[in-house]
Amino acid sequence: MYKDFQAYLQAELKNIEEAGLYKNERVITSPQGAAIKVSTGQNVLNFCANNYLGLADNKELVEAAKKALDTHGYGMSSVRFICGTGDLHKQLEAKIAEFFGTEDTILYAACFDANGGVFEPLLNDQDAIISDSLNHASIIDGVRLCKAQRYRYANANMEELENCLKLAQAQRHRLIVTDGVFSMDGNVCPLDKIYELAEKYNAMVMVDESHSAGVVGATGRGVTERYNLRGKIEILTGTLGKAFGGAVGGFTTGKKEIIAMLRQRSRPYLFSNSIPPMIAAAGIRMFDMMSETNELQDKLHSNTDYFISKMKEAGFDIKPTESAICAVMLYDAKLSQVMAAKLLEEGIYVTGFYYPVVPKNEARIRVQVSAGHEIEHLDRCIAAFTKIGKELGVIK
Ligand SMILES: *Cc1c(COP(=O)(O)O)cnc(C)c1O
Repeated sequence: MYKDFQAYLQAELKNIEEAGLYKNERVITSPQGAAIKVSTGQNVLNFCANNYLGLADNKELVEAAKKALDTHGYGMSSVRFICGTGDLHKQLEAKIAEFFGTEDTILYAACFDANGGVFEPLLNDQDAIISDSLNHASIIDGVRLCKAQRYRYANANMEELENCLKLAQAQRHRLIVTDGVFSMDGNVCPLDKIYELAEKYNAMVMVDESHSAGVVGATGRGVTERYNLRGKIEILTGTLGKAFGGAVGGFTTGKKEIIAMLRQRSRPYLFSNSIPPMIAAAGIRMFDMMSETNELQDKLHSNTDYFISKMKEAGFDIKPTESAICAVMLYDAKLSQVMAAKLLEEGIYVTGFYYPVVPKNEARIRVQVSAGHEIEHLDRCIAAFTKIGKELGVIK
């Protein structure tokens, strides 16, 4: 049997390669950070990690994790409800709720699991899910596992959302679901308007804060802070794998009955291992740090403002953004790849994206700014973009 299947896979892989869509992995041999070393020996400045607060190699988090290895061991060898709930898990859940101003939190191994396990236990075929067209793959998969009636609106299009809400009056309960920050453009969802429509049409709201937590809002509390809606949104999901230290882990936080039901019925929670104690301990330390000082959030915001204004000054076409994501628009797919390769030669690590990851003829290089960057790093990045941009005729 495998012979046939092998031939089939070989042909499919070749197709992927010929379409120029084959993903090759670059191997990093240093800790994740603003400056990294790759396996070729090259030292590069990293502008494509989700390490928004620069915490991936933070000494205090490393220390907290090491200490927990001694006090709590390595792993839990259990799902939460059998014998996998530790004091550190409970403490971390409380910290997350405090951070977002919510009632309770449930941890998962990843936000992919949080989104995969949130819809099916709460909604059934009598209900409606109304989803932004640019929502993350894990939301799309989670919705697929649920029998609720599905509606979809174009990215951040409030007219379309309103139409969906009108149609969804036919269902019993309605849940609007949106990313907080859309990862390819960096735009923030219009949560003020979404909330208004939700009130008007009797719907609940869920926001995935993966790219917005730690980033958006004056103190990094995410889009509910940005729109003054703390405590008003029924469901938030998020990850510990981006701004919050970058290790692993996800969560759903919100209304306490919702979280209670997820603990009873959410399949990725019931049937998958609990996160290692050291990750929980470092997470607790991280949330404490973010409450003690606003230094990292402030630095991220000033870095982002600095980078974007300098790039615009240099003549680049930047998508409107309210996050740490800066999409440098090139439109041409090949150009995005050539430019990213040339930037790497200059020691700047960024990624070019093109169709189908972004719409046709909207190829771009996505730059992700971090509090881990110093002004000197940003200047080197801007100088390299300017040099290569001129060389390739992107700017004058
Ligand atoms: C990264 C991301 C996820 C997945 O998070 P993991 O914890 O890595 O599984 C989910 N949703 C959004 C919007 C993301 O950006």
